[in-house]
Amino acid sequence: METVTRCAHSVVQAPSLAVVVPCYNEEAVLLETYAELMSTLEQLQASGRVLASSKVYFVDDGSQDATWQMLEQLAATDSRVVAVALSRNRGHQNALCAGLAQTVEDAVVSIDADLQDGPENIAPMIDAYLEGNEVVFGVRKQRDSDTFFKRLTAEGYYRVMQRLGVDLVFNHADFRLMSRRAVDTLLQYPETNLFLRGMVRELGFRSSVVEYARRPRQAGESKYPLRRMLSLAWKGVTAFSIAPLRAITLMGVLAGCLSLALIVWVLCVKVFSGDAVPGWASIMVPVLFIGSVQLLCLGVIGEYLGKIYEEVKRRPRYHLREVIGRFPREGTEAP
Ligand code: UDP
Ligand code: MG
Repeated sequence: METVTRCAHSVVQAPSLAVVVPCYNEEAVLLETYAELMSTLEQLQASGRVLASSKVYFVDDGSQDATWQMLEQLAATDSRVVAVALSRNRGHQNALCAGLAQTVEDAVVSIDADLQDGPENIAPMIDAYLEGNEVVFGVRKQRDSDTFFKRLTAEGYYRVMQRLGVDLVFNHADFRLMSRRAVDTLLQYPETNLFLRGMVRELGFRSSVVEYARRPRQAGESKYPLRRMLSLAWKGVTAFSIAPLRAITLMGVLAGCLSLALIVWVLCVKVFSGDAVPGWASIMVPVLFIGSVQLLCLGVIGEYLGKIYEEVKRRPRYHLREVIGRFPREGTEAP
């Protein structure tokens, strides 16, 4: 039943697979997700791609609806399900991280609960893993299911990040496969502000890409309103680039050159024509302009300072409230 693929450098055996699914108020879609993931696991086992010990880890990120009750039920009746509950809502990236930290399997796939990233794409990911890749990025080939605004902002964002020198896989979010080694290495990164898709690129292990068409959300609604999307985007910038700080220096140099030219001009007028520069507009305009630029710069510096403040506190990213079904069944609870 085990598949062995021989590559130039590696021999990889069919892995045990963990699928990690962060869930926040996903009661509307959860049962469908469960059914689809389980049938995917069965197909993967039948084709010899993964071992029978494979599991699905659902992480309840402090949901207020019936998500946790449903997960408890699933974990109690199906030994392939592990249900992990966080003490409160900590956000998608932290919930994902909590799930990754629970896994012990050889390969780990992270996927959203809303089935936007079709589980049928896990099979080609495993194939890429069997060829010796330690990270396999799911890449959205087309984003028809996203709104025009989301597509536009996402496209712009990836381009800006590229310009800032941040190494991101274009149109890859958090649907990916990682080897055990990649997951363990990722978990050693100590930062509080997580931007996993950037951190995974930092790992540098051999990687490949699986392209797929993103489906519309199966049920329920997006948990990433504009405010949260902007917050994640800004986390990505500040966690991976100091270009905004450099831009401030550059702005300072430019403003310095401009004011030098202005001073020379004022002096020339004074010396050669004998009058002072008339009017207060010529004073007020640069004062107001430079004042606002300074405030903006202070804001950007403050953002980085805030991030440093959060990082030096070294607070845990999440607290676990309960884990069900992690170890071979005897009771329902595990530490
Ligand atoms: N999610 C989470 N915690 C949050 C917000 C979202 O665990 O605070 C999960 C959510 O349940 C889903 C995934 O993160 O499985 C992606 O969220 P969503 O589909 O709402 O984002 P979108 O696809 O709209 O960007
Ligand atoms: Mg979604």
